[in-house]
Amino acid sequence: MKYIGAHVSASGGVQNAPVNAKAIGATAFALFTKNQRQWFAKNLTDTEIDEFKDNCKKLGYIPEQILPHDSYLINLGHPEAEGLDKSRASFVDEMQRCEQLGLKLLNFHPGSHLKKISENECLDRIAESINIALSKTNGVTAVIENTAGQGSNLGFAFHHLKHIIDRVDDKSRVGVCIDTCHAFAAGYNIADKYEFERIWDEFDKTVGFNYLRGMHLNDAMKPVGSRVDRHASIGSGCIGAETFRWIMEDKRFDNIPLILETPDELIWADEIAMLKGFC
Ligand code: ZN
Ligand code: MN
Ligand code: MN
Repeated sequence: MKYIGAHVSASGGVQNAPVNAKAIGATAFALFTKNQRQWFAKNLTDTEIDEFKDNCKKLGYIPEQILPHDSYLINLGHPEAEGLDKSRASFVDEMQRCEQLGLKLLNFHPGSHLKKISENECLDRIAESINIALSKTNGVTAVIENTAGQGSNLGFAFHHLKHIIDRVDDKSRVGVCIDTCHAFAAGYNIADKYEFERIWDEFDKTVGFNYLRGMHLNDAMKPVGSRVDRHASIGSGCIGAETFRWIMEDKRFDNIPLILETPDELIWADEIAMLKGFC
């Protein structure tokens, strides 16, 4: 079963996200459980939590179809104590919000070394940050997203993801989300069928499909290896629609949220319908 959706708005409250997802024919969705440009937000109220759960139930969304995303400010590999502490506290808060909503996954960007520490030191810090967050929460899996490798962002290579996972104590609560635009920008040429197969073999050998908890389905505005994170609508970028057909036809991507983060939300319903048509 393919779960296909988009990162929908939770404006007005988290309880609106499943309603917005249903309106575009989605069978999965992503959301921010608070403003993504803030470190902390006021706690979710019991009413918001109940309405979110009721709407999910009523509209047929189970936690396996929902992939919340954390704040963009958080850097779990921050080279400096102040930034690292603030990021860790904010991330624990994000995990707790997911726990309160009955959600099982939290998607986040691993972190950046800001040219102040080595790649390995930064990756070690990210793993330690995950260990701290997991020790303070229950039932929520930390889902590391691969990045485009823009600036000093780590997580653009599969071996970075592996480095982090290896150092996480509770392997049952760590996973990865592969963003197709980010992978392409990082140099993985998934537009080519031969490379597509080879790359997923490499992913399986390096990380393992057992850790794949979600996907972000985005076409890419910039060519392969650009290291630039610019999403395009499916079929109108440098990857092309065929790659997304291969993903839809592939059982290895079953039963995980497949989330569009494409720029034109007016055509999300059409993109979802197209993807469903590929299955
Ligand atoms: Zn992301
Ligand atoms: Mn993404
Ligand atoms: Mn991106």
